[in-house]
Amino acid sequence: MLTKGRTVTDRAAGAARRGVCRRLNEGVAGGAVAQTGGMDVIEVLPGLRMLALPVGAAYLWSDGRESTLVDSGPVGAEDRVAALVESVPGGELARIVLTHWHEDHTGGAARLAARYGGVPVVAHRAEAPVIRGEAAGAPPVLEEFERPIRASVPELPPAPPCRVDVEVEDGDVLPFAGGARVVAVPGHTDGSLALYLPGPDLLFTGDAVANVGRTMLGVFNTDRARAIASLHRLAGLGAANAVFGHGTPLVGDAAAGLRAAAADFR
Ligand SMILES: [Zn+2]
Ligand SMILES: [Zn+2]
Repeated sequence: MLTKGRTVTDRAAGAARRGVCRRLNEGVAGGAVAQTGGMDVIEVLPGLRMLALPVGAAYLWSDGRESTLVDSGPVGAEDRVAALVESVPGGELARIVLTHWHEDHTGGAARLAARYGGVPVVAHRAEAPVIRGEAAGAPPVLEEFERPIRASVPELPPAPPCRVDVEVEDGDVLPFAGGARVVAVPGHTDGSLALYLPGPDLLFTGDAVANVGRTMLGVFNTDRARAIASLHRLAGLGAANAVFGHGTPLVGDAAAGLRAAAADFR
């Protein structure tokens, strides 16, 4: 049991509450998520909000007493992510969990970690030195089909170094949502992590899995064979609900989508 997480005062509580929220019903879950006209914050499930960004997404889990931010978005998204954090009444930010070091997931983390000063930043032990700027992250080994996808993705600024206060490993349990289990999913990066929340039967996949058009292995992996093994492992969890580093949440039937994605690699 991991007990290092601690709740601290959210210094910015009561600040501007700009997040626009709408309920994402199950009928929409398999389709496109609206990202226009400020409708960029979606309540995926009770307690789970998604901020859809031009590249990627940030997620806020809140139980009404405290909140957990999963990924920070890129450099430049900090104010929108802070608005997401502060849009939840009565929910002090208790921790920031970073699924992996890529700039679309950690670019805003340094500024957010400074804004919410005492809030611990959590990452996998293998990823922490890269997030801190102490080591270079391994570049992806691109498949032929990934080269045009990579070329079409807008270049993002590198992530400024960010403190990591709590280093976790596979099987560690973070003290929220009744015990959020860390699932190591190496392959996309060495220290990629997923989170499984048993209560809401909810999986945060990070970039181990994507759901853009269809549920699939995430792209731009450092070790494709390990990434495929991680996809199989996540599919084996049988989670009803899943949210992704990129793409539309799956509500109610996520297990079928993940199993189908894993079946590509039998
Ligand atoms: Zn990534
Ligand atoms: Zn990503």
